[in-house]
Amino acid sequence: MPRKRIYELARELGMSTRDLILALEKLGMPGMSAFHMVSEEEAEVIRGLIAEQKAAEAKAAPEAEKPKPKGQPRPPVVAVLGHIDHGKTTLLDRIRRTHVATEEAGGITQSIGAYQAEVDGKLITFIDTPGHRAFTAMRARGAKATDIAILVVAADDGVMAQTLEALDHIKAAGVPMIVAINKIDKPEARPDVVMQQLANLGYVPEDWGGNTIMIPISALTGQGVQDLLEMILLVAEMEGIYGDPEGELEAIIIESHLDPAKGPVATAIVKNGTLRERDVVVAGTAWGRIRALLDHQGKRIPSAGPGTPVQILGLSDVPPPGEKLERVQSPKEAEELVEKRLEEERARKLAPRPRPSLAELLATAQKKSLVLIIKAQTMGALEAVKLELGTIQAEGVELEVLHAGVGQISESDVLLAATETQGQPLILGFGVKVDPKAQALADQKGIPIRTYDIIYDLALDVERALKRLLGPEIREVKVGEAEVLKTFNISGVGRVAGCLVRSGKVVRGGKVRVLRNGQEVFSGEIASLKRFAEDVREVPQGYECGLRIRDFDDVREGDVIEVYVLEEVPV
Ligand code: GDP
Repeated sequence: MPRKRIYELARELGMSTRDLILALEKLGMPGMSAFHMVSEEEAEVIRGLIAEQKAAEAKAAPEAEKPKPKGQPRPPVVAVLGHIDHGKTTLLDRIRRTHVATEEAGGITQSIGAYQAEVDGKLITFIDTPGHRAFTAMRARGAKATDIAILVVAADDGVMAQTLEALDHIKAAGVPMIVAINKIDKPEARPDVVMQQLANLGYVPEDWGGNTIMIPISALTGQGVQDLLEMILLVAEMEGIYGDPEGELEAIIIESHLDPAKGPVATAIVKNGTLRERDVVVAGTAWGRIRALLDHQGKRIPSAGPGTPVQILGLSDVPPPGEKLERVQSPKEAEELVEKRLEEERARKLAPRPRPSLAELLATAQKKSLVLIIKAQTMGALEAVKLELGTIQAEGVELEVLHAGVGQISESDVLLAATETQGQPLILGFGVKVDPKAQALADQKGIPIRTYDIIYDLALDVERALKRLLGPEIREVKVGEAEVLKTFNISGVGRVAGCLVRSGKVVRGGKVRVLRNGQEVFSGEIASLKRFAEDVREVPQGYECGLRIRDFDDVREGDVIEVYVLEEVPV
């Protein structure tokens, strides 16, 4: 029995897939997707119903008006993501070779960061810097360059660390995804294994009744690539990707560099409106009157409309990817805007930067949810952190994990955090280091990064931070008292006090007051708490423990340590 997909049926009926799905919904068949399979009998029923509906509509309102989206369909902008060596570059090169009409002899043009492919008479704009770092950089500041993401997974290798990262980046961007299962020409290719792995992650292939589009391809031989391209056009149609050439200019920088001969050169993707030569534009702190616009083949063009990548000459500086390109009325207006931004930047740099506690840092945040990016050394450690965070509860605030991965904290993590607009982003590292470039970027964007070596410290800090987000008053409550029996100097760590808990309990992360002969000599907090060699959460009365006080190495035998915890004052 031949079976058909809804989009094939739509083509046959001479209507758009979107319209067919909407019509079916009206006819009491909601929840259809473009890829839903129907039997020939079902298709026949649908044909009949649609014909009836069309007849009825024609009778009732011969010129029934459909609400028209503004503008017209424009080329979708597509980015390619995936694990290293899974074939992103090969795929982009192949499409470029087979679907970009070259005018030059030899056909080699320099890449401007994106190109336009022609498929069945329609255009698709591909961003040719593959990878999720570039993808996320291009959607910083709320604007997103990309409409559709292609996730490349090699059929011989399966889902890998960067595949998982890419999935989280795509999810956070909220753009539709097509999975290209690549390298199916290889004898050891196992596309079914890839499908199963993705299904286990919640991305169920549409062939199995899910919503994730997966296309088997070989970027090397070209097998399946045409299907992939057609699917991109279909998804674009389903999404209703529109642009209005007459509308307000909306353009995003995707690539930029300093050319020794041409000066600053930037590529922007125009998403709406039309960019023209001689326009005065501002991107971040770069501005200029456009001297020339070049298309993806390096050809000079007078203007660029929606969905088009375009190289811009004439800027004063090199704007970073992700920056919005704005049009202003005059050079004077541009200069004023840039001066204001530079002023803000200077003020930010000059502001004194003490290192506040996480809770203090977030106390001023307006957001009521904490959005985490967690990095740990191993999958096991990552699971442990997630489990520990799962035990934290604070009513009225939410804890969301945007991305959890293995490895050091990278620029890509900071970029992902920077795109968060709903909640307060926070990057947590457990037993991992921070890439210095990531730290610099985080400082610049005001994203807090905290790293821990002890899981309880991490959980405690997050708990406190959450409470601070709620903003109640916090007071100190005494929970116990310990006496210092002995002290040890541990090189590289500091002085550790061997104590006996006299009353109550000593708790990790607790606040302390150190009393010597009844006089307070120091107040601060517990930096570490151990029983024997083990890190522990608390030690009750009658037991011995080793504790270190943060920034205090003068603890002595006979000192009394009073321990406090911070408690919320109910409002
Ligand atoms: P990227 O790191 O994701 O950009 O991966 P590349 O495009 O550089 O591909 C990595 C390697 O896989 C190269 O040696 C490619 O020739 C090879 N490769 C890519 N696609 C295919 C494919 O479909 N089949 C086979 N057999 N090899 C492929």
